[in-house]
Amino acid sequence: MMEDGRRDIKSLTLSELKEEVLSLGEPSFRAKQIYEWMHVKLVRSFKEMTNLSKAFREECGKRYRFTALFPVRVQESVLDGTKKFLFALEDGNVVESVWMKYKHGNSVCISSQVGCRMGCSFCASTLDGLERNLTPSEMLDQVYAITRLTGERVSNVVVMGIGEPLDNYENLLRFLGLLTDENGLHISQRSVTVSTCGIVPRMRQLAQERLQITLALSLHAATDEKRKRLMPVAKSYSIGELMEACAYYFQYTGRRITFEYSLIEGVNDTDQDARELAALARKLCCHVNLIPVNPVKERDFVQSRADRIQSFKNVLEKNQINVTIRREMGRDIDGACGQLRHRHMEGGQDAESIFHN
Ligand code: SAH
Repeated sequence: MMEDGRRDIKSLTLSELKEEVLSLGEPSFRAKQIYEWMHVKLVRSFKEMTNLSKAFREECGKRYRFTALFPVRVQESVLDGTKKFLFALEDGNVVESVWMKYKHGNSVCISSQVGCRMGCSFCASTLDGLERNLTPSEMLDQVYAITRLTGERVSNVVVMGIGEPLDNYENLLRFLGLLTDENGLHISQRSVTVSTCGIVPRMRQLAQERLQITLALSLHAATDEKRKRLMPVAKSYSIGELMEACAYYFQYTGRRITFEYSLIEGVNDTDQDARELAALARKLCCHVNLIPVNPVKERDFVQSRADRIQSFKNVLEKNQINVTIRREMGRDIDGACGQLRHRHMEGGQDAESIFHN
């Protein structure tokens, strides 16, 4: 972004940064130094870059914007230690990120947009529409800020917070490049998951990038008719087209697809729904992740009962589908995407009671 005429320095690749540094008459190794301060040491300002001269740091401050998110709220789950962060961006907008501790390492869930325009009927992120895209540096900074605040290394990143990542494609790709760059935090591509509501042309484009990231498809229904009722995007792309795009992704990358399926009582959780889902999943190299739907106050969806979820899972397993039930992390802290931001914007009593717990 060039809003005030200054380039966003944390969104530049190392080679772009080298060009910048050379154009300022500095030796190219300065680029590596700055890059390391930003992407390895995770500093929050030019001031902290102590191996650069004061004059050069001031020059950089005049020429470049230095994105640094500010934590507005942090909530910790008493149930499982999950932490939810509400970050303020420089323009006053807020986004949420979640930190989850697992046996195999720490996982961070980040937002890709401020709001969302996809309109899924069970999702809180879309209630206020789309405000704007996040820049690559704003996506990175969610990971960086959380690394600093927790003092622990992040091993997995999932792009499953607020927003539709494939609706912000160019910035997403730049973000992925920087996040996995060997000169930066160097998070393995295999430890990154991007979740989409199913924008078919973008899924195909992503396949052609031949990254080793996991693509998760938010399916939530196994027939077009049902899916259209839950997700407006289903009116643009049929399940048939989605399955072809998934097969194409697997063909290009060799990466197994994940289907996400949120179970909503009386809507998509019968054994017949499970059989239809199994029929789709059987044709692909995929894994099904069942998510007990997280109730959103503004919507009247109810979570499927535990025995229904188990029965749904059993049908899939009988059909040799690889399936897991997502552990609900941070239920007590509004874990579902977009809820914290939405309440923050609503203000008032509701927000107060959450923020003080
Ligand atoms: N826009 C992307 C990523 C963000 S949502 C996508 O659609 O995939 C991450 C996942 O959470 C998606 O599968 C989404 O459908 C699901 N989700 C959203 N609201 C939910 C809720 N209230 N309960 C359970 N899952 C929800």
